[in-house]
Amino acid sequence: MNAILTFLKNFEDSEPKPIRSAKIARQRFSEKPSETLPNITENYNGATLIPRSEHSVSRQQISENALKVVYKLKKEGFDAFLVGGCVRDLLLGREPKDFDVVTNALPEQLSRLFSNCRVIGKRFRLAHIVYGRDIIEVATFRKSSGESPTEAEHHSKEGRILKDNLYGTIDDDVWRRDFTINALYYNIRDFSIVDYVGGMADHKAGLIRLIGDAGERFREDPVRMIRAIRFAVKLGFKLHDDCEKAISPNAHLLASVPAARLHDEVVKLFLTGYGVQTFEMLRHYGLFEILFPAVEKNLSLEDSHFPKMMVIHALKNSDIRFAENKPVAPYFLFAALLYEPMLQRVREKVAKGMAESDANFSAASEILTQQIRRISLPRHLSLAIREIWNQQAKFEFRVGAKASKLLVHPRFRAAYDFLLLRAQAGSASQELADWWTTYQKVNETERRKMTQPQQTPKSTKSKKKRTYRRKSKTAISANIEP
Ligand code: ATP
Ligand code: MG
Repeated sequence: MNAILTFLKNFEDSEPKPIRSAKIARQRFSEKPSETLPNITENYNGATLIPRSEHSVSRQQISENALKVVYKLKKEGFDAFLVGGCVRDLLLGREPKDFDVVTNALPEQLSRLFSNCRVIGKRFRLAHIVYGRDIIEVATFRKSSGESPTEAEHHSKEGRILKDNLYGTIDDDVWRRDFTINALYYNIRDFSIVDYVGGMADHKAGLIRLIGDAGERFREDPVRMIRAIRFAVKLGFKLHDDCEKAISPNAHLLASVPAARLHDEVVKLFLTGYGVQTFEMLRHYGLFEILFPAVEKNLSLEDSHFPKMMVIHALKNSDIRFAENKPVAPYFLFAALLYEPMLQRVREKVAKGMAESDANFSAASEILTQQIRRISLPRHLSLAIREIWNQQAKFEFRVGAKASKLLVHPRFRAAYDFLLLRAQAGSASQELADWWTTYQKVNETERRKMTQPQQTPKSTKSKKKRTYRRKSKTAISANIEP
């Protein structure tokens, strides 16, 4: 009896499960991982192989986790290369920001190989191998979608790549990369560097050169223009003539890049230690005005009484903080960049007759809404920006209990730093900033003394004004007390 049951069970197990539709059948087929291992790359057609003895990248400089990943891939019979920024930075003797790995293993194979693997991304499917807070990004070799028969589906009208998930070989993968210096592959099998595109020579010459036709590569992905600027500044390299010439005519295309994608790129642009130089170069090539239209418009306004120094000082401070290993908050920088355009808009609205409190609220909303369309900002960050702006007016009130209330506000520290920045840039008085610095340092008795009302009687006009302001329900502005 048992034998019959076992036979029946085995029979049942061997039956294929019914597939309800052709679509599902296709999905199953495409998702089924390939069990056969791809061949290890031995033939590097046309590439220069630079042996270990002729380059300076050593395993000592590579993170332990990145080594774990590449060694495991090698052991399992896959290709494993370090590629991109880490090879570029190691060749310069700099510590890489992260380690990117590229392999012929498919994402689903990676997810079976590494228990700590997360497959992410729609546009690019990538594997993240997670070691606590350290993440090693592993990409499968890709080929350019231009070789696909369904090319039209992959590009927008302007030539921008929309979808890009075709797997290929190292020989395909290299041509999709942006700059020659970012296309050097460090092979864990023999520690050589594979160079298809003359990346080593450009590296030595300090040149940012696009792989292929510069204009075409920028049209495919306009983000490459700001990457070119970022690398030129960060590495102290020069833009190759072709690259330089192709930026201004294509700068406007940056506006078509999804706002969410630009957030990370912009944070890297301004908050990784080279903000001032990057800002100047972006302006020079007409890229800054696409990223921050309201800021650019405000910078070009003639206003001799208020030199527009907030942006430069904010970037300078961020660069210094980065060099000192202190945290740099994107919302603080955005608050600083957009502050003067916001105030300008308030002035315009008040001049048209709007109440100041309403003008403040409305200007802040308008500026943030417009900016977020270009570069996304999570809601909690835009709220933080508003809070910083709102707190600025409250610093003016130094009498009675208001100062001590402000001090315990959760956003006080950022708002105070912002006040210091305004004082530095000439948009708030240094005396006010100093008063708040002292107020924080002294004891309770001193604080009480500092917040005593002045001897001189207040004018009736200002009393009236205060009563009126207290009544205002809409006063959540940067300049008016609620
Ligand atoms: P860093 O990590 O120091 O910012 P990176 O060059 O490593 O610089 P990543 O964004 O980590 O920059 O990208 C890794 C690699 O992927 C790049 O070096 C490049 O080869 C490729 N790459 C990244 N973005 C693009 C792009 N927009 N177009 C083409 N290739 C790209
Ligand atoms: Mg990188």
